[in-house]
Amino acid sequence: MSQPTLQEICALLGQAVAGNPTQYMMEKTFAHHGLDWRYLTLEVAPEDLGDAIRGMRAMGFRGGNITKPHKVPVVPHLDRLTDAAAGIGAVNCIIREGDTLLGENTDGKGFLESLRGVVDPQGKRVVLLGAGGAARAIAFELALAGAATITVVNRSAERGQSLVDRLNEKTKTPASLVPWVGDFTVPEDTDVLVNATSIGLNDAEARVPVKLGQSRPALVVADVIASPPATRLVRKCKERGLRTLDGVGMIVNQAAIGFRLWTGIEPDVQVMREAAEEFVG
Ligand code: NDP
Repeated sequence: MSQPTLQEICALLGQAVAGNPTQYMMEKTFAHHGLDWRYLTLEVAPEDLGDAIRGMRAMGFRGGNITKPHKVPVVPHLDRLTDAAAGIGAVNCIIREGDTLLGENTDGKGFLESLRGVVDPQGKRVVLLGAGGAARAIAFELALAGAATITVVNRSAERGQSLVDRLNEKTKTPASLVPWVGDFTVPEDTDVLVNATSIGLNDAEARVPVKLGQSRPALVVADVIASPPATRLVRKCKERGLRTLDGVGMIVNQAAIGFRLWTGIEPDVQVMREAAEEFVG
């Protein structure tokens, strides 16, 4: 087998990245397309982030993904941001363009591609649970896609308000905050409910504290949690006959966008999905 060259490496930089399915998906898809590329999973402590990015430059990495807790702190280490990444204020994907490193955010785009398979968000009233990195990316893409309203429900009112202020300042979609205390009752006129919190990660029985009340039959419920895909929220909503989306579609779609940006090749998304499903069981 030929040795990989330094130009053929991408990497995931973050903390506690051991259980992340992206490396598995990427390597299977590189092989499927006959690319002798490598995708590394690298633990990087916050104080070492600058050195890690300089290392990516020095070693000629084609690009990489950035995950917790580096999505926001990585910004000053890059040369340029896409409009989406600048609006969101966070980067999860780096692309090398010549000598420069471009920061992109594919989390929200991956989510949107998945959602569009079920419903067009244009003109829809959205309730978004959470205000962390994933929620921010999703909120911006939903706003850019023409969502009618976005109600952010978040435990930390300060974090929630900061997302709402940013949405109202930078997009045309009106956003408002509901501080999350006890069970949140989803308003009857909601079209799309998104769980963008970390509740349910590695815990199939974790309950998202919401009550669906008299929700409309057309309500779409999406969960960002990919592991396990059948979260309690997804299962309960399916039992009610609602349309649901799990987090696997989002992770596959955002990986497909990264693959395309780095290699210039349209990936076989089915290969990616099968790899992701195999990984998360
Ligand atoms: P953050 O840590 O940035 O944000 C976590 C969010 O969850 C915050 O809004 C936090 O509220 C909320 N939260 C956590 N625990 C609770 C709780 N017990 N009750 C109420 N709210 C809670 O994480 P990320 O946004 O980066 O990631 C969130 C999840 O999204 C992760 O589990 C990750 O696996 C998943 N994800 C999935 C992707 C995919 O492709 N499928 C891509 C990216 C992320 P507060 O602000 O009050 O702390």
